[in-house]
Amino acid sequence: MTTTRFAPSPTGNLHVGNIRTALHNWLLAKQAGGKFLLRIDDTDAARSREEYVDAIRADLAWLGLRPDGEERQSARFAIYEAAFDKLVAAGRIYRCYETALELDLKRKVQLGRGLPPIYDRGALALTEADHAARAAAGDQPHWRFLLDHETPIEWMDGIRGPQNFDARQLSDPVIRRADGSWLYMLPSAIDDVEMGVTQVLRGEDHVSNTATQVQMFTALGAEPPKFAHEALLVGAEGKLSKRLGSLGVSELREAGIEPEALVALLARLGTSDPVDPTLDAEALAASFDLSRFGRAPARFDEIELHRVNAAVVHHLPFARVSHLLPEGMSEAAWATIRPNLAHIGEAGEWWQVIAGPIAPPAFDDETHAYLATAAETLAAGEWGDDPWRALTAALKDATGRKGKPLFLPLRQALTAHDHGPDMASLLPLIGRDAAVARLRKAAEG
Ligand code: GLU
Repeated sequence: MTTTRFAPSPTGNLHVGNIRTALHNWLLAKQAGGKFLLRIDDTDAARSREEYVDAIRADLAWLGLRPDGEERQSARFAIYEAAFDKLVAAGRIYRCYETALELDLKRKVQLGRGLPPIYDRGALALTEADHAARAAAGDQPHWRFLLDHETPIEWMDGIRGPQNFDARQLSDPVIRRADGSWLYMLPSAIDDVEMGVTQVLRGEDHVSNTATQVQMFTALGAEPPKFAHEALLVGAEGKLSKRLGSLGVSELREAGIEPEALVALLARLGTSDPVDPTLDAEALAASFDLSRFGRAPARFDEIELHRVNAAVVHHLPFARVSHLLPEGMSEAAWATIRPNLAHIGEAGEWWQVIAGPIAPPAFDDETHAYLATAAETLAAGEWGDDPWRALTAALKDATGRKGKPLFLPLRQALTAHDHGPDMASLLPLIGRDAAVARLRKAAEG
């Protein structure tokens, strides 16, 4: 059973990069018929806020990424405590007292000697008497995880390929602060074991965390999950972008972006595969393939997103959009105007063209005469199945006009636009009486 998880810290709104990670975890789970978990990483009580938890849930719901379960780290402290005690007893977690200043000084000395700034494990030399003296002086320890220097750290990354780290080149990570609060690293590994997570897919900023977490899994007596690390998201110009860091669902929504478009683009972003503007997320899941992702930064181009959005809007069924459309707008009207929209919000403009009133341009005398003929032809002729075809055929015969001089004045008089939806579909929606009235009015000038 494949189990993936999306593990945001509720310290802000999700941005496009987080959304991509959430989506890819959802796609992996769907593809395998597995589970997608939402894990709220709220161990940091000072920075976590309930309003962000709600916003994360709302964003995932808007995107259609329904979690198969939700967990909160703040409700799991007893579990972390139990695992912590075991690892302390096994000698894999140890007490340290260095201040930030002391550690900084040690690093500077190491760098000055041309050495890598790795924690020197000074605290390992402390005796029980030393610890007792510290306690008597009122010093609380912080805690580090003891890396196993003898075992090479290796994993086959689903995107980056084989990864190797030498534990000697890494500092033993601090996993718990002196006030007892948890840092991200250990609770996350404990949760992944406890929740049966089989695949961890996250950003490449976590690669070095993975190196130490691989050993945490082993120390916890568990097989590490499969790992994959995605390349960073950059702006269209190929650079890290401040805007991307704050661009989230609410901004995109306001700009008229539909969830299906965001999902379709992000599902492929980072691969060289073409974006498929499909409405079918299950189909995106079926064709999702981690091995198609490259190590180069993935470019997020808002112009491309708007293009995909237009393509998506052109396919949206009436039932999906009806509550967003102007009062009274029919399914036939939606089908007619949808190919002309970049955003659903533009439907109102075209509905106005259908329902009126409209403000056509001024025409010259010759065109006035032509439009008068058109009005009377439409009033007297058969309405039939295809009134536009009947009208234009009759006018062609009667006036000898063809091409643009035949069609454009009619479109302008009937819609007040030079371009727009297919006239053959629009005319029946406008209706005979309204169309005759519009032509007569335009003919009068
Ligand atoms: N809360 C961590 C983050 O947002 C989770 C990382 C992970 O996926 O393990 O970066």
